[in-house]
Amino acid sequence: MAPQSPPKATSPVLRLKRGHDRPLVHPWIFKGDVADVGAVAPGDAVTVIDGTGRFVGRGFFNPRPALCCRILTRRDEPLDAAFFASRIGEAIARRGGADPARLVWSEGDGLPGLVIDRYGDVLAVQCLTLGMARLRATLVTAARAAVGDLAAFSADDPAAASLEGFAPARGWLDREGPEAVVVDEDGVKLRVTLGGGHKTGLYLDQRLNHRRLAEAAAGRTILDAFAYAAGFACHALVRGATSAVCIESSAEALDSARANLALNRVSDRAELVPANVFDELRRLEREAPRFGLIALDPPPFARTRTAVEAAARGYKEINLRAMRLLAPGGRLATFSCSHHVAEAAFEDICRDAAVDAGITLRVVERLTQAPDHPVLLTVPETRYLKGLLLEAV
Ligand code: SAH
Repeated sequence: MAPQSPPKATSPVLRLKRGHDRPLVHPWIFKGDVADVGAVAPGDAVTVIDGTGRFVGRGFFNPRPALCCRILTRRDEPLDAAFFASRIGEAIARRGGADPARLVWSEGDGLPGLVIDRYGDVLAVQCLTLGMARLRATLVTAARAAVGDLAAFSADDPAAASLEGFAPARGWLDREGPEAVVVDEDGVKLRVTLGGGHKTGLYLDQRLNHRRLAEAAAGRTILDAFAYAAGFACHALVRGATSAVCIESSAEALDSARANLALNRVSDRAELVPANVFDELRRLEREAPRFGLIALDPPPFARTRTAVEAAARGYKEINLRAMRLLAPGGRLATFSCSHHVAEAAFEDICRDAAVDAGITLRVVERLTQAPDHPVLLTVPETRYLKGLLLEAV
């Protein structure tokens, strides 16, 4: 797709309904918030004003999804190449040269609809809105100005692209890069295959939690449930765990897990179990092995508000079963990445599970996403990863 010419500061106007004030502190505007909007092509910039005519901000408009506009600036400035160069430059500067790292995280960095990850000499770029997708080349130029002339891989999310009505880009942007890169996550090697796997390759949000659970690894066994590429297991084994069991249902993820265990020369201490975690936990319970460490990192069980109840049952079941598998003094790192399940609700679920399991657990630490996924106080959706590091006492 050709990059569009930068929008002018005088863009068509989107007027909010009276009383629809959330966009004053939150970037999202839903169709139901809109009183009227001028003639604007999908993906172009609009100037947002409130019901009384006051300037609110400027963002890209798309009539197709219910979430029709995300505010990018609250100043009266054009959304042009200079704007993105400065926003992206600031976001990258906040990361202080970390690698691997999420350099740009959408709403959290004031760039809703754009994710840029760094894996060694590669940038993985994910455009989640039509407006961002049309500006891809400009956005990559801005990122390169901050990190150097790295190869850029487009790793759009097909679901987001289909909501927004554009063809998801998957491939090298302007020149070929390597098929795969190996990154160093705190002394642990992890392979990233461009265009393969989930997210843009790794769950960068769990980076610090991999390390945190592994701190107590020496001499213990680890159960890595929902293992993906075995991040938790690799960290624990490298730091002295005696053995690991990784449960994962996706064959592709299991291939990555196998490769990562080999890269770290710990394959001989690891078992990969291609199974559904719900079934496998039930089976393990009958066998009654005990694990010194357990990571429980499921996909979002509640993708919508209405799915919360069923999700709560799912979270409770896996936590209950995992708690029964903990050795005395063992540690469980348990997570929910469903933003519809609030932190307090997640703790209630874990508490219920502990009551049913009949065990006392100390909260060693409350865990969350890595800081390169910044949280905005007024945008609760940005605080999506909730975790507890628990110890059986
Ligand atoms: N712990 C990983 C990320 C896990 S993402 C890390 O730190 O990198 C969740 C993983 O669970 C995905 O790889 C997905 O394929 C897997 N998964 C989803 N549902 C599953 C199920 N019911 N049983 C086993 N694995 C499942």
